[in-house]
Amino acid sequence: MNQSMDPCERLPLRDNLRGLKPYGAPQLDVPNMLNVNENTHPLPVEVRDSIAEDVRAAAANLNRYPDREFSELRERLAGYLGHNLTAANIWAGNGSNEVLQHILQAFGGPGRSAMGFPPTYSMYPLLAAGTDTEYIKGVRADDFELSAESAAQQVREAQPNIVFLCSPNNPTGTALGLDVIKAVYDAGEASNAIIIVDEAYAEFSHVGTPSALTLLEGRERLIVSRTMSKAFALAGARLGYMAAAPSVADAMRLVRLPYHLSAVTQATANAALKHVDALLANVEDIKMQRDRIVDELKRMGLQPASSDSNFVFFGGLENPALVWQELLNRGVLIRDVGIPGHLRVTAGTEAETTAFLTGLEEILEKSQ
Ligand code: PMP
Repeated sequence: MNQSMDPCERLPLRDNLRGLKPYGAPQLDVPNMLNVNENTHPLPVEVRDSIAEDVRAAAANLNRYPDREFSELRERLAGYLGHNLTAANIWAGNGSNEVLQHILQAFGGPGRSAMGFPPTYSMYPLLAAGTDTEYIKGVRADDFELSAESAAQQVREAQPNIVFLCSPNNPTGTALGLDVIKAVYDAGEASNAIIIVDEAYAEFSHVGTPSALTLLEGRERLIVSRTMSKAFALAGARLGYMAAAPSVADAMRLVRLPYHLSAVTQATANAALKHVDALLANVEDIKMQRDRIVDELKRMGLQPASSDSNFVFFGGLENPALVWQELLNRGVLIRDVGIPGHLRVTAGTEAETTAFLTGLEEILEKSQ
């Protein structure tokens, strides 16, 4: 056998995984890390103390498996979301990535398909591949917008088993109107499609941008997924969740690994949810920095997309790879999502945002 080949070529890897690249946003230790849409504000000290205290208490029972049903956590998450939701409507996982994986494990699989509308969250095709679900790429308009008519038409034609609607969308940052979600839900009736609205960034939306949570009642095939990684500043804790009909949560119980949410994870998330106001206190500041980035980029002659998230996607760059590298040379790491002429930046603290804007302006002036 040829030992110099890529080991993945030699190994009996499933055919649909051959040649795929793992998710791999760079993790570089630079002063301004604005590339993976984290909340860059540190946790308030009182929240850290509360988490440490509750995790210490949970440590007393680490010889036992955790609550498989994570009942307290589901209760708290339902309380946070409101909209008359109860613990029976909630499911959670180690990040919303795991929740999405559970959905694909339950409703996707060999012979089934999931549809997304690129450019969108890069994990959708990878999660589909991992569950042997065919991934169907829908199309957006040239300005990356997705209208109700176009989305519904594409779903009617493709008849997928699952549809991913990301709102606000990553990487563009723009939210979908509820008309799009309703139209896609209705269009999915023919194939009995599960419609996932990924609202990982919902808390950063402008006032007046409604959540798909308002559509759950009476729509058994609709799932709204959320995460504590972004607005709650808890990316390191790995806690994502979804709200849907209780029957959907029951389907998740068939595919989750037993005790998938550790006692430490549950204690951490429960402690954090006792401090919702303190945790969300920085959201307004981040939204301000986000709007500042949009305004400043326009002033520099670039084309930022309108954003309901904690990041801004912008076009009008002649050489995005060079701008990305020059920013990194100045200690600012942002994201090249591989779309010609475009880059994406996370709104950080005021100081981080200033480092990005000042660096970018310098680079653009130098190149003229
Ligand atoms: N959905 C979207 C749109 C995201 O951007 C991300 C993270 N970048 C996730 C889901 C997953 O986040 P997590 O697993 O941390 O909840």
